[in-house]
Amino acid sequence: MKEIRLPPVLSPCCGHIVDTVSGLDHDAAPAPGDLTICINCGAILCFIDPIVGRLRVAHLSDLDWITSQEFEMLSATQQYIVDRGRITKHS
Ligand SMILES: [Zn+2]
Repeated sequence: MKEIRLPPVLSPCCGHIVDTVSGLDHDAAPAPGDLTICINCGAILCFIDPIVGRLRVAHLSDLDWITSQEFEMLSATQQYIVDRGRITKHS
């Protein structure tokens, strides 16, 4: 799983800085409309423009096109993040 660096952007769900992504089953850079999960709070996010780092919280309609297997992976990842708790901020 390859990590891809992005321009830093505040996550619209919790304000966590998002600057790195990795694909669940590929190493491709994200494209507009692709989904990701906030590693801090587990919210499902949608890339508006990954080149300039624009994200929004995903709408239910964004999940219409994903497979049941992808939905299961998203759900399991969300549950892991929720069970783990939020990341402690370092200052
Ligand atoms: Zn978040």
